[in-house]
Amino acid sequence: MTSDTNNQPLIDSDEILEGILQWVNIESPSDDPSAVNRMADKIQADMRPIGATLERIPGRDGYGDILIARAPWNDERPGILVLSHMDTVHPIGTLESIRPVARDGDVVFGPGIYDMKGGAYLAYYALRHLVRLGRTTPLPVTFLFVPEEEVGSHTSREHIERLGRENKYVLVTEPARDGGKVVTTRKGSADFEVTVTGRAAHAGARHQDGRNAIAEMARQILVLEDMTDYERGITVSVGVIEGGTFSNVVPATCRAQVDVRFPNAPAGKEMCERVLGLCALGADTKVEVIGGINRPGYEKDPGIDALFNHAKALAADIGFELEDTTSGGVSDGNFTAALGIPTLDGLGVNGQGAHTDYEQMYYSSLAPRADLWVRLLSTLS
Ligand SMILES: [Zn+2]
Repeated sequence: MTSDTNNQPLIDSDEILEGILQWVNIESPSDDPSAVNRMADKIQADMRPIGATLERIPGRDGYGDILIARAPWNDERPGILVLSHMDTVHPIGTLESIRPVARDGDVVFGPGIYDMKGGAYLAYYALRHLVRLGRTTPLPVTFLFVPEEEVGSHTSREHIERLGRENKYVLVTEPARDGGKVVTTRKGSADFEVTVTGRAAHAGARHQDGRNAIAEMARQILVLEDMTDYERGITVSVGVIEGGTFSNVVPATCRAQVDVRFPNAPAGKEMCERVLGLCALGADTKVEVIGGINRPGYEKDPGIDALFNHAKALAADIGFELEDTTSGGVSDGNFTAALGIPTLDGLGVNGQGAHTDYEQMYYSSLAPRADLWVRLLSTLS
C-alpha cells in the first residue's frame, strides 16, 4: 500500500494487480459449481475484513452459490447495486496449459482477467479503499456476485431483478470496450431450437419415399439467415446443427440452434414471432420451434444518459475521457436496464480478448478506473 504526504493510503496499481491475480488464480467455469463456490469463498474472505455484511444463497440446477455483500454503512434506502459475475468461460486447467498468467509490459494475460475478474475486483477495491480512508458513501452499496452469467444467469436472474428494483442505480463490472468505453446500450438476445421431422427411407432402394429432414432444414436456415437486418440491428445466426444417422438413410430428423439479437423490446417481440412462426416448405415435413427471449435489449434512456454523463465528468476530473458505446453482447445489465433502472455497464478493466486464450487487461487502466469507481460510489446520491 502506498500513501500520500498526509499518510493517507493511495490507489495503488500493484496492489490492485495482486488482488486481481489472486481472483484469476481461482479458476471458475460456469458449469463447475464447486469451483465457482471457491471463488465465492475467496470474495467472502476479502469482504470480511472491511466489515461487509454477507449473504450467500445456495446454488441450484448445477450452478454455484450467489453472494451478496453490503457495505458496512448500509441502510434500507434504495442505493447502488454493483453487479458482477464470478464465472468464466475457461475450463479448469486453462491456467496450467493454454493461458497461464503472464505479464508483458502493460498487458497482463489470464483466463477471466478481462471478463470479468479484473472489473469485479476494481469495484471491490474501491469499497475497500473507502473503508480504509474512513469514508462512507451517500447511498447504500450492495454487491451481487452471480455464478452463471456466461450461460444465461437462469438461476440468478430473479435476484438480479429483485435487487435491481430495490436500488436506484446499477453499475456493472463487465469489461470496458474499444479502448476503455463504457456500455450504455446493449442488444437483447433470444435462443431457439428448430426441429425438422421428415421421413426415413433407404437412400438407395426407396429414395422416393424419404422426406429429407436435413434438406428441409437447409431451406429453413436460408429463411432464418434472411431475417438478419444490420440496419435495424437485428442478427440471426444458426450456430449448431445436427441431423441424420448414416449416409445411406434419408434422414428423418434434424435439429438446429439459433441465436437472435435485437435492439429493443418491439424488435425482440417481432423476431420471436417470426422465428416461432417458421413453417415447413417441403411436402410431408414438420417444423417445430421452441425458445424465446433470454435477455431483453436496452437502449440509452434519459436515466442511463444522466448516469453516463455523471461518470464522464468524474473521469474528466481524473484525467481521462470516458466515452460510451453499444454492444451486441448481452450481460446481466440487460435485466436491470430493461426494468428502467439507470444502469451503466462496461465499468471494468480495459483490455481485449474476452472468451479467448489471449484474454488480457491493461495494467495502465487499473488506477484511473479504480479511481472512477471510488468517485462513483462517493458521489451518486
Ligand atoms: Zn462477462
